[in-house]
Amino acid sequence: MTKRSRSEPTGEDLLATRRKLPIWSARRALLREVAAAETLILTGETGSGKSTQVPQFLHAAGYTEAGAVGITQPRRVAAVSLARRVAAEQACPVGSLVGYAVRFDESFDRRPPKRGGTAIKFVTDGMLLREAASDPLLSAYSALIVDEAHERSLASDVVLALLKSAQARRRSANGGGAGPLKLVVMSATLEVDTFCAFFDGAPAVQVLGRSHPVEVLHAAEPCEDYLEAVVTTVLQIHQLEPAGDVLVFLTGEDDISAAAAAIEARARLLPATSPTLLPLPLYAALSPAAQMEALAPAPPNTRKALARARLLHTPAVLATNIAETSLTIEGVVYVAYHAARRVDSLLQLPISRAAALQRAGRAGRVSAGKCFRLYTERTFEARPPSCNALLQRPPATPSCNALPCRLARASVDDLEEATAPEVLRRSLSATVLSLLSLGVKDVLSFEFLTPPPADALAAALEASSSHCAPLTTAARSRRTAACSPGCRSSRSTAEPCSPRGAGVSLGRCSPCSACCALFHSPHSHREAADESRLRFRSPGGDTLTALHVVSAYDAASGGGKARGEGRRWAEANFLNWRTLETAVQVRTQLVATARRLGLGDGDGRVPDGVASAAQPLSSEESVELRRALAAAFFLQAAVRRPSGDYVTLVSRQTVSIHPSSALFSRRAPCVLYNELVFTTRLYMRDLTTIEAAWLAEVAPHFFKSGAAAAATGAAPSAGQPRMRIHGGGSFR
Ligand code: ADP
Repeated sequence: MTKRSRSEPTGEDLLATRRKLPIWSARRALLREVAAAETLILTGETGSGKSTQVPQFLHAAGYTEAGAVGITQPRRVAAVSLARRVAAEQACPVGSLVGYAVRFDESFDRRPPKRGGTAIKFVTDGMLLREAASDPLLSAYSALIVDEAHERSLASDVVLALLKSAQARRRSANGGGAGPLKLVVMSATLEVDTFCAFFDGAPAVQVLGRSHPVEVLHAAEPCEDYLEAVVTTVLQIHQLEPAGDVLVFLTGEDDISAAAAAIEARARLLPATSPTLLPLPLYAALSPAAQMEALAPAPPNTRKALARARLLHTPAVLATNIAETSLTIEGVVYVAYHAARRVDSLLQLPISRAAALQRAGRAGRVSAGKCFRLYTERTFEARPPSCNALLQRPPATPSCNALPCRLARASVDDLEEATAPEVLRRSLSATVLSLLSLGVKDVLSFEFLTPPPADALAAALEASSSHCAPLTTAARSRRTAACSPGCRSSRSTAEPCSPRGAGVSLGRCSPCSACCALFHSPHSHREAADESRLRFRSPGGDTLTALHVVSAYDAASGGGKARGEGRRWAEANFLNWRTLETAVQVRTQLVATARRLGLGDGDGRVPDGVASAAQPLSSEESVELRRALAAAFFLQAAVRRPSGDYVTLVSRQTVSIHPSSALFSRRAPCVLYNELVFTTRLYMRDLTTIEAAWLAEVAPHFFKSGAAAAATGAAPSAGQPRMRIHGGGSFR
């Protein structure tokens, strides 16, 4: 949470602050190391100044004469916020010397730096992958810094492999005169040896020291109900600790909504004289504008009023792991979190010790802070630290007896040292499409930092060929990859491509893009939205319902010409206006992308959108759209069993329809789902009804006809899916 009473620091203030950072005194030595090695691995405590200072050091040392210095981030919110900070430190507007490019938002000057273009450019891993698709040598850059490499996201692993290959080509005669490419791989805690080995024995250096001390407190006993523990801890901090904002890590939107409601309710019971608590959500599916709002300082004309209000409020930012790294949220002094981490929509696992250290580090960014771990010290310390010297133990800590955790049932196991690389944890179909679109011909031999299991890779290749059968490999992958970002909500830019865009490649661009765009919908107002959904409900399911809502919004807002009207309409219908705006914006981008790629309805024409479709779709349109969705999402199909439950066709899991679904009381025999969530049982969310027979038609490589019937147990076993994808139900 930004300390809203803060006055803007001057350039001199910022320079003085920079000089106090641990990395400042190491800058000459650091530049010597960079000069001596093609690739350098840099480690250092969180807050030592790596993300903000290293690009500025390279710029000051003249590297930007030969091209931009790029810095990759796993998350868009961090890329934008770092660009703003570094622009302020360079006393320039964002988009000039310092800029950024994230999905659906960019601000940079394309000219080469020596002709006045952007010299320091923050990008997400996903955006760099897209740049590499059109320029594999990345010739616009003289140096690239891969930040938070320890997170081992799929996208950053692929980026590292591509950078290694770009370096080799630029070293050779194939370099096209682009010159050498410097690479700095950095993070706070990381598997140095893995990176050094991958880059053929690259040297590693460590920056010592941290900016501000963080006192770490652990729960005296394991807590059974972690949300309850979070809420009580926030209230205790609010009442007992000195001023300062609170950052709470939770596992996902649902927990954030529940915690926010509970904090609000509990805060209402405090005496009237007591300061109030402001819960502020921060998660990836929140619209970019709302994310930045949670971080941004108040506009100048409101600062005074807020300054007074600030004395009476303790903002509590309730965030997912989006806030774990690279973000400085000014004003945050307290950090609280349990060991639970959401792996995907299905699973919650304990965080790693490396992630725990990162989270604690969020408290010490701008002043001394406190970290409340809602699990025991034993849980953290149970495993001896590895020989990786970077993982420092926190100082001996007092037990946090005041914490509310009840009972002694351990709810988490001992923490792992570091999280397993994403490449080993999820379906690889998105990666495969991405690699194919980048022109990687032999995906099976691609040089991964940690090679995924060969069978998983082969399965992903098979799936991608099912999706893209009508097109040639490279072209179809490029199209699918280019069209897909709007289809993802929770993983933000880390996933530049996914089979979900395949619907677009089938020429149903406009309706598909609108539906996909609505998948950005946060679930924060689900109850009110559910009521209004009833009014818009389509028998085709939630996706078609969503399409109907967006169409009606388009009509109400005059296709964007009367946004005020649109907003009033959205509020009157209990719809999230920001989400609708984001949906329309994403749809516009997807339509533009489809036009650029020459996709369209037969004659190549791409309709502008669904402005004319304020009425429900005709039954022919509904069939066409649902068939297209089946072609794109066939991996996420489920069929009803005689018992009334459903079974997913690929992973064979027993699942139920989520109560919020338009199909809850109308149990269609065969459905596609967008998401699996586990609460009391495993639920499918965001459903579309389809005909089981379509699956064999749209994905013949994958399904034999009769597969769906076989899965329910009602037909002979001849109709099984031809293959199973590694990784169970977590395809997303
Ligand atoms: P590291 O990458 O080593 O974790 P950073 O370069 O991100 O460190 O941040 C170094 C310091 O710069 C932070 O501790 C904080 O004091 C300051 N800083 C960085 N970003 C911001 C920001 N957006 N607003 C205010 N201060 C910031």
